[in-house]
Amino acid sequence: MGVIEYPKDPVLEFSEEEKLFRESVREFCEKYIAPKWVEVDEKAEKDPMAIPVDLIKKMGEQGLFCIPCSDKYGGQGGTYTMATIAIEEIAYADPAVALAVYALLNNGWPFALEIFGKEEVCQEIIPEVAKGNAFFGIASTEPQGGSDVAGIKTRAEKKGDVYVFNGEKAYISGVGEVQKLPWGGGWFLIARTGGEGHRGLSAFAFIVRKNGKLKEGWIPTIYEDIGRHGLTTGGFILENFELEKDYLLGEENKGFYHVMEGFNLARIVVAAATIGAARWLLEKAVEWFRQRKLFGGRSIASFQGVSFKFADLYARWEASRYFVYRAARLADKIYIEKDPNFNPKDLNVPVALAKNYGPETCVDLAEEVMKWYGAYAYTKEAPIFRAWLGPFSYVIGAEGAQNIMRYIIARDIIGREFVQG
Ligand SMILES: Cc1cc2nc3c(=O)[nH]c(=O)nc-3n(C[C@H](O)[C@H](O)[C@H](O)COP(=O)(O)OP(=O)(O)OC[C@H]3O[C@@H](n4cnc5c(N)ncnc54)[C@H](O)[C@@H]3O)c2cc1C
Repeated sequence: MGVIEYPKDPVLEFSEEEKLFRESVREFCEKYIAPKWVEVDEKAEKDPMAIPVDLIKKMGEQGLFCIPCSDKYGGQGGTYTMATIAIEEIAYADPAVALAVYALLNNGWPFALEIFGKEEVCQEIIPEVAKGNAFFGIASTEPQGGSDVAGIKTRAEKKGDVYVFNGEKAYISGVGEVQKLPWGGGWFLIARTGGEGHRGLSAFAFIVRKNGKLKEGWIPTIYEDIGRHGLTTGGFILENFELEKDYLLGEENKGFYHVMEGFNLARIVVAAATIGAARWLLEKAVEWFRQRKLFGGRSIASFQGVSFKFADLYARWEASRYFVYRAARLADKIYIEKDPNFNPKDLNVPVALAKNYGPETCVDLAEEVMKWYGAYAYTKEAPIFRAWLGPFSYVIGAEGAQNIMRYIIARDIIGREFVQG
């Protein structure tokens, strides 16, 4: 247990199994991730392809990927709440969040693959992702803009038994990992198979490298990011890239609806990562308040300009936790328990609240902690800036821009016809 006790909470109650699971993830993270996260971030800052392959493999052995996926596909046969707990703990140990983001992508998107993919395709991909041998993320964004999913231009033409892809994807996580991990991997990719608009899109299990062999027609590039360096971001051009038709996910031209379900799942664990990193930040603040003395030995927390701000941010963190775990429990009702009283659309507002609130709370908190630390925070010796720049990726827009979350909330509460004008 850290400086801040995990809140005792009869409303947001965890089962004994979930508590034990949290403990076991925490122990793993204390041993293997907490001592390494700064090194991982620093190394990959200099060389984006310095991917922590050994650590990813260890995380796979610990069972931190594909947690909600069925054991018949080599998943962990757990719940979405358990995945959420794991991601929160990984981000607490790695507040620069590269490892947490690796893990959240490789929980959310393989689970979406299982919902829409054919059995043989799931059996081929999920076991390799679970072991940490392969990466499976999301490839939606294109250079012309990520928020406008319905405007995607990449085309997939059906020719006999294959789809032939031409186009370009940008700002995609995992472009380096699919090249460096032993098996390879790919993405839940969205491309245009029909006419204009959201009804012309299809989803694919888009594998670019398998069994260590790269497929032709995939031309990648790697970006230099400002944070969360241990996970690569890149882009790729597709030139007559061929994929067997079995890799289509769900129904042709229904990809927009399928990917929106995937986004809902992934955004829960995105928000979980930011509440984990925020807990680390809150603890750094408390430790600092207890030692930093000014004006004749007064703790800086004795100035209400400091401690009231802390109280406000602590409240936002607790609220974020509610949003995150409520959404995770709903995901379990819909996808694990298959409770007929719930359906995928019930996730829209709860998830948008969690994704909107968690990352903004974390980044606002990081900025305040930097100020509370004073000049020391502006040196690389104090790693707070890493917990600012990493989570900031989720305020800037990864897994959906913040305004898009606000749009979803407004649309579903006020009514689509009023909000779209
Ligand atoms: C580190 C990182 C990793 C990423 N990884 C992936 C990945 O793995 N896969 C993937 O597909 N994408 C990924 N992305 C891209 C991400 O999904 C996009 O950044 C996001 O969808 C926003 O798209 P955009 O950046 O093109 O911004 P734009 O869509 O151009 O938006 C720019 C600004 O306009 C605002 N805006 C846009 N539309 C509206 C609207 N209708 N109403 C109000 N405001 C609006 C947005 O809020 C934003 O502030 C990643 C991004 C980052 C930073």
